[in-house]
Amino acid sequence: MSVPATPSSTDGPQPSATDLARAVLAQDTTPQALLSNALARIDAAQHLNALISLNAGAEAHAQAVQARVQAGETLPLAGVPIIVKDNINVRGTRTTCGSRILANYTSPYDATVARRLVHAGAVIVGKANMDEFAMGSSTESSASGPTLNPWDTARVPGGSSGGSAVAVAANLTPISLGSDTGGSVRQPAAFTGVYGLKPTYGRVSRFGLVAYASSLDQIGPFARSAEDLALIMNVIAGHDPQDATSLHAPPQFAAGTPDDLRGLRVGVIRESLEGNTAGVESTLNATLDALRGAGASVQEVSIASVRHAIAAYYLIAMPEASSNLARYDGMTYGDRSTAPDVNTSMTLTREHGFGREVQRRILLGTYALSSGYYDAYYSKAMKVRGLIAQDFARAFADFDVLVTPTSPFPAFRHGEKSSDPLAMYAADVDTVAINLAGLPALSVPAGFETVDGVRLPVGIQFIAPTLKDEVLLTLAGGLEGVGAVQMEAPAGY
Ligand code: GLN
Repeated sequence: MSVPATPSSTDGPQPSATDLARAVLAQDTTPQALLSNALARIDAAQHLNALISLNAGAEAHAQAVQARVQAGETLPLAGVPIIVKDNINVRGTRTTCGSRILANYTSPYDATVARRLVHAGAVIVGKANMDEFAMGSSTESSASGPTLNPWDTARVPGGSSGGSAVAVAANLTPISLGSDTGGSVRQPAAFTGVYGLKPTYGRVSRFGLVAYASSLDQIGPFARSAEDLALIMNVIAGHDPQDATSLHAPPQFAAGTPDDLRGLRVGVIRESLEGNTAGVESTLNATLDALRGAGASVQEVSIASVRHAIAAYYLIAMPEASSNLARYDGMTYGDRSTAPDVNTSMTLTREHGFGREVQRRILLGTYALSSGYYDAYYSKAMKVRGLIAQDFARAFADFDVLVTPTSPFPAFRHGEKSSDPLAMYAADVDTVAINLAGLPALSVPAGFETVDGVRLPVGIQFIAPTLKDEVLLTLAGGLEGVGAVQMEAPAGY
């Protein structure tokens, strides 16, 4: 595919990351031209509030990539513009995590993923909006204001990686990075109609990712094709000595073909079949029909323990958050409210710097860990976590992949759940169990549901055994080949 030297910043299908890297390597275009195209698109889409900041060093990076290309280096992501979530450190950029408390924090170092992206020739254009400290499912709690869904700006893009999802859905950049602790890559991918992959825990380094709940956090990409997902995973996955939980598993990602679907054993998780909207249900059925049509076997399987996943998840995530966020006291990082004594200063800093949801979680998390309650809450939740992991392992004796909707409903309205924390937590019903079990899962844009006259994307989640992340992209390529992936751009983007 030929890419014009100064691509149009308006409508029309946009080239993939794979196409762009090829064009740069063939010297049909330059990283600088791709960067200015991305900046023009970001500018035209400012009303979506997908970004918190731009990378002032991007132009210099683009020039450096061009020099490397001219020197003959074969860079897998040559000149590809990318947006990363604002909880991933990129040297010289602000890393606010969507919080007032880090409003003026500038990263002194690169996260491992950022270093690998730059090494592979990508140009990090900017930092994506997110729920404060990645706590949320709607990207409404950011100190930088909410992100809007390009399919219907009255609706949320999902969260907490809403800005990263919108970056790809609205074609600002072909790929982006988010983080997924309980669904924050998959659910926004579903709400905006793109792919979102949560890798096996330990598959992608978390070094330089600001911690929310360390035993659950994982960085993952958004993309518009299985081929692009494979491209970026082959760059960012792999062992990192700077992350103690990093696994030794060299990435071997490639998009599959319909032939790969033949004989695939697909298990539909029975517990996920209740409470879905009509459009989610019909999208799931259409996806299962496509799989059967391609020669896969499809059967229901029960994983009873997932009914307790939401309760266990929040009883684990909040205590971990309360201890991870203890470091923001105004003494070493970010904003400080000064007072005559240190205790008052710390109190005011935290009271002023953290938003309501973050404060709620610190309080609940501290409570669940406190003496007398630890056994009742935290250690019980850890037992449930063990059961969930076991139940998944048992199911994988009979199935190659498991499937559920990514969310029981498509994107909801701004304000619809933000005043009701429990309703917001319940939105994660299909995603949190996967993080508790440490498994890889992919949200595939598989259909649409028309709500009040507006077409909204619907995502289907595929789950693979530990370290079998590659299977998910084999499957996605196969689904693309049989026409079961509905990848469209919202009107005007
Ligand atoms: N919505 C979930 C939460 O608020 C998941 C967030 C995430 O994956 N970062 O914890």
